[in-house]
Parts: sequence; C-alpha cells; structure tokens
Amino acid sequence: MSDFAVGPRVLLKRLREFMAEPLEPQDRLDHIVREIARNMVAEVCSLYVLRADGVLELYATEGLNPGAVHTAQLRLGQGLVGTIASSARALNLADAQRHPAFTYLPETGEEIYNSFLGVPVLRAGRTLGVLVVQNRTQRIYREDELEALETTAMVLAEMIASGNLANLARPGIELDLRRPASFEGACFSEGVGLGHVVLHEPRIVVTNLFAEDTAAEIRRLETALGSLRLSIDDMLSRSEVASEGEHRAVLEAYRMFAHDRGWVRRLEEAIHNGLTAEAAVEKVQSDMRARMMHVSDPYIRERLNDFDDLANRLLRQLMGRSPEDAAADHPRDAIIVARSMGAAELLDYPREKLRGLVLEDGAVTSHVVIVARAMGIPVAGQVKGVVSMAENGDPIILDGDEGTVHLRPQAEIEAAYAEKVRFRARRQELYRSLRDQPAVSKDGVRFELLMNGGLLVDLPQLEDSGAAGIGLFRTELQFMVAATFPRAEEQERLYRQVIEAARGKPVTFRSLDIGGDKVLPYFSNATVEENPALGWRAIRLTLDRPGLFRTQIRAMLKAAGGKALKIMLPMVTDVEEIRAARELINREVRHLSKFAHLLPTSLKLGAMVEVPALLWQLPELMRAVDFISVGSNDLFQFVMAADRGNALVAERFDPISVPFLRVLRQIVQAAEAGHTPVTLCGELAGRPVTAMALCGIGFRSISMAPAAIGPVKAMITELDVDKLSRVMDDALAQPNRTDIRSLLGAFAETHTIPL
Ligand code: PEP
Ligand code: MG
Repeated sequence: MSDFAVGPRVLLKRLREFMAEPLEPQDRLDHIVREIARNMVAEVCSLYVLRADGVLELYATEGLNPGAVHTAQLRLGQGLVGTIASSARALNLADAQRHPAFTYLPETGEEIYNSFLGVPVLRAGRTLGVLVVQNRTQRIYREDELEALETTAMVLAEMIASGNLANLARPGIELDLRRPASFEGACFSEGVGLGHVVLHEPRIVVTNLFAEDTAAEIRRLETALGSLRLSIDDMLSRSEVASEGEHRAVLEAYRMFAHDRGWVRRLEEAIHNGLTAEAAVEKVQSDMRARMMHVSDPYIRERLNDFDDLANRLLRQLMGRSPEDAAADHPRDAIIVARSMGAAELLDYPREKLRGLVLEDGAVTSHVVIVARAMGIPVAGQVKGVVSMAENGDPIILDGDEGTVHLRPQAEIEAAYAEKVRFRARRQELYRSLRDQPAVSKDGVRFELLMNGGLLVDLPQLEDSGAAGIGLFRTELQFMVAATFPRAEEQERLYRQVIEAARGKPVTFRSLDIGGDKVLPYFSNATVEENPALGWRAIRLTLDRPGLFRTQIRAMLKAAGGKALKIMLPMVTDVEEIRAARELINREVRHLSKFAHLLPTSLKLGAMVEVPALLWQLPELMRAVDFISVGSNDLFQFVMAADRGNALVAERFDPISVPFLRVLRQIVQAAEAGHTPVTLCGELAGRPVTAMALCGIGFRSISMAPAAIGPVKAMITELDVDKLSRVMDDALAQPNRTDIRSLLGAFAETHTIPL
C-alpha cells in the first residue's frame, strides 16, 4: 500500500519552487505532475484541462504514454475524467475499470492501472480541469490524500486562470475560461452597452497560496473569524435591524454559518495542508460552490449566496481589503455585474465610467433599476448564472432592449453590436437635432414633453433631453439612497438645486411616496403587511406622520422662495385626503410667513390618479386640485389587479388595450370638463407606441424618462393627431374589441411615423 512520501506541505513547498523558476509552461506542468506522483507515491499523475468546446484535453502526465499529451481527449461527462468535470466531484476508486463510466483511451496505455483518484480543478466554483493520480494496486485513497490532491489542484487552477497555459493550446482552440457565454434575461432598461465586467462584489483573488508557518495561519484564521462573528453580532444588535423581517433572517443565517463547526474544520484542514488562511477560505468556498451549483432548490441556492457573502467578508478581514480599494481602478467602460444591489451602491460608481448594469435577480421596479433608468444606463435583469461565469475585466455586451448578455463575445457578435451602437448613435443625433424644436404634430397640435427625475444625477438631462420641465420629481429617491432620514436642510438643498437647474422650467415635486415596494431600511413598518401595495404607503403614511410631511413641505416652500412651486400628492384615494394635506401645507405657509421667510410666488397643488376609487369622484377631484397627473404604473396595477413587480403577471395585460384606454380617456375628458390641467407620468408615456396611444385619446402633456423624450418627439412631429384621434375614437367605441397595438402599428406604417 502506498503512502505519502513526505506529506502535502512539502509538496506545496516544491510546487512553489517550480512556480518561481523561469520554466516554459509545459516544462513547469511536467515538473508539477512528476512531483505530485512522486509525493503521493502514485505511478500516474495527469492533468486534463477543459477547453471552450467542452473537451477535456490531456495537458501533462507522469506515467501515461507521453505521446498522448495534447492528443488524448474526453468530452464533458465522458469517462471518469469527464464525469468528475461535469459533476465537480472527486472520484476515489479501487478498481477504476469496473466503474460504469470508465472509458478506455488506447493511446494512454492506462489499462494496467487499477486504483484511481481524480479531483476537479476549481476556481470560484467553475471547473477548469481534472487532476488524476493512479496506481496499479487496488486501493482506496485516504481522506488526507484526497485533501492534498484538491489543494494541489487549486494551484493549477490559479495557473490556468492567470493565462499561464494559454499558449499551450493549439491554434484556434480556447480554454474554457475564455469561452464565450450568452445569457437570456429580462429587459429592465433599454440601450446597448459594450464594455468590461466589473463584479459588484469582486471575488478577492488570492495569490498568496503557500504558508510558511501553519500555526501563524491558524491564529490569523481565528482572529479573522472572531472579528467576523463580532461584526455580525454588531449588525444584529443595531436598532435599525427590525426584530423580524428578511434582513434579520439573512443576518441570523450568517451568524449560524460563521459558527458552523464543519466549515471551520475544513478551513483548518486546508491550512494544515500548507495553504495560507485566505487560500484555505477560497478552497473551501470553491469546493462548496461547485458541489451546490447544480442544486436548483431556490432556498439552498439562496443559502449558497449567503455563504459566498460570508466567505468574501472573511477574505476581506484576512487581506485587510475594503470594497473601496477595488473601486479605484474601474475600466472606463464598466458594466457592473451583480446578484443584486442597492440604489445607493450604484451611485457609488462614477457615472462617466458606467456603461450598463447586469443583475441576476431584481425586478423592473426595484429601486436600483429606477435609479439606473434615471441615469440612462441599460439594464438586464434576471440573468441567471452570470455572476459565477464572469471574471473582472472580461469583455461583455449588454443588450438592454432584449435583456440579453454576451460574455467574452465572439468577433461576429461584437461587430453586429458595434453596428447597432452606431445606428443608435445616429438616432441620438437625430434626437439631438430635435432637442430645441417644440413638440408639435404635423397638424399643428402642441405637446408638452416633461421628464421624470428624483436625484441630482438626473438634472443635467433636463438640458440634454430638451424636456419642457420636470413632470414628476420622485422625492422619495433621496430618502431611499440615504442611510438615515435626510435632514430638513438636506431636503431643502436638493429642492433648491433642482429648481435652479430647471432655470424657470416648471418642476412638479411629488411628496414622499414611500411604503409598498419603496422601503427605507431605517424606517420599518412595525406590522408585516400582507399586501404592501395596498397598504400603509404614500399619502396615507404621510398624513399619519404629519411631522414627516410638514418637514418636507417646509423644505419645498423655502427652496422655492420667490419662484413658482408645484406639489403633487401620490396615491390619493379620497378627495378628503387632498383637503387634509392642503390644511397641513397652509399651516406651513402661515408659519413661514410669520417668520418673514420669502415664500413661493405661486403654489399649485395636484393629485396623482393612481387609485381607481378616484374615477368615481372625478368632478370633486377637479374642484379640489390645481392639476392632476395620472400615475399609470399604479393605476394599471390596481385596475387590472396585476402586481407591477411580479414577472408572472406584470406583462400579462396590455396597458394600451381597450379597457385601460377607456379608463384613461375618461380621466382626460373629466379634466377638460373641469378645466383642470392633466398630465400622465407613468412608464406608458415613455415608449413611442404607447405615447402615440395617449396622444390619440387626448393627452397633451406627458412625463417620461429623459432618454425617451427624443424618440417620442420624433414620433409626434410625424403625427396627424386629428386623424389618429378619429381612428382611436372609433376603435374604443366598437363592441368587438380591436387590437390597438396592431392598429397603431399599421397607422404608423402607413403614415411613416417612427415608432
Ligand atoms: C406611477 O405609479 O405611475 C408613478 C409614476 O409613480 P411610481 O412609479 O413612482 O409609483
Ligand atoms: Mg405610483
């Protein structure tokens, strides 16, 4: 029975020497396999590397026929080696040839060997190859031998990943690490981005693998684990972590993992085998990821993510690295790839370097997506598996229109997209030329095209897009990206900057619209709501917390001193709520005038039409306000009873189908009858075809993401509104339902209207 000649620590030491010597890559590999064989008293040691075409190629061997190197090949899943690679699990067999997956490769001459131990070569959970030892005698390899081989495989993974073996590949054949990969996700924000991957939570690359002093490494691990546990306890004890809820559940899971005996034992074992503490964390994590990658149970996958986060935290502790260090050297064309991220985190990236955002999770209406859209960057969401396949710096193409992502794209795809980008640039040129022209239709009808905003980053777009003003300023975004409630002065400062940037163009500030899906981490609702969209949110919440509302109103009144001010209330259900809000606003006006503050020259109060109950109070509503704005996102979700954030139902019904257009037309007609200005500020306003439907039923003012203004204006300038209105009136009057989308498509085609 064979045994370790000198033990894994000596083996690692020898490998380190080979890495330092100025050897040709093939010589280095040959030395390494020979050394492993000698050390493990194995007659054979072979390394197979996974190529981009899914073939495992023999790259080096001690013991098998040397002529088989670079010629012996197995496909993923084929033979023992292919099975190890596809399952990412080790195989330890006393009689390999009796294993059902055994495939005989005559060129290798391996028929005389019986026992077989093979491990996957892993990096960040991806399989890059397979490392095998074989012996003639029938034996089962011991646990410590398996551990030693896995540790050695880690060194080889580093060699493969760092591109060390690239020039050993035959011309035209790429290693798997460089394999192009495409992903289908969902469109969250339109546009195309070409650039390089920036992993939002970069895997920390451990380059210091070998330890001199095991005892010192164990102490480092213990210290780091101690601080990790303390930091989790600290997070748990902070008052803003509610006593229940998802955030707490995640932290509790972290705490459990950080104390997990099995995890700690595996880390210690890896250090005893000669790795540094950080290399041990990486090894254990990589093994775990590879084994769990194939699990589809969402609960387990979620826990895997938790474990990943924890391992990353531990690595940061060990390497004394802060996330900011990584931020310093982003490429100039960064496409951020993240599992999920907060809106504030996106704002930490320099805007001028951002070309796009790719999320594994997320929903169209998640905060980070709203912010990304406001910044005009393309976003693809629900792109499953992209994080583990991407490496920092990989070339990447993001097609926000389609929701697709191409990682390490091939030249043809790159060329096709470069063409698409050029085409878009030409269109942008056209929009820019329209920027200073009024939005007037072919038959002379004038439209007001406003933009939606909510953050300082939006303001330059007011000028660039040629918007007539800000139709919806979502004040809650400032609250959502902050760590605590923004103080009164901070609110006032932002509003003042907005008004100044608008240079006399109108701005409509919406009062705080929090609750529902817009949660503030530092302000949690004590009761768990079963239906948060129908719950304690927006005007309901602010009327119950008048202090919050009055602080905000006062900040607006002060910021607009000497200028016109427009305020709009979200989620109004009952006209009474408008009167109650007006009462509070008037109190603030009185308060400020008592202290001789400069007041706005005019104050207009409006309400958003988002709750269907208002449809049966339209005349009273018109009398109670100075203007209305239809929040079509919410109104549609309530009219259709279809959750706007739930991918299963969000796109089930068409907002420009007959029933919803009838609802919208009714609102416009009531506004006209009451001489009340009306606008619409949901996503419907921002696509040329849906905006065209709105024009056709009587809207003359709409507010949208700034990037949409150009395309919508281009549509309007080619439109005969009178003709379209007649077509729409006719369609909406029909008892047999017309497909409005096709109708508009045909209309646009006949009249050469760009959609
Ligand atoms: C809407 O509901 O249409 C709207 C504009 O408000 P928000 O999207 O912020 O809820
Ligand atoms: Mg809304």
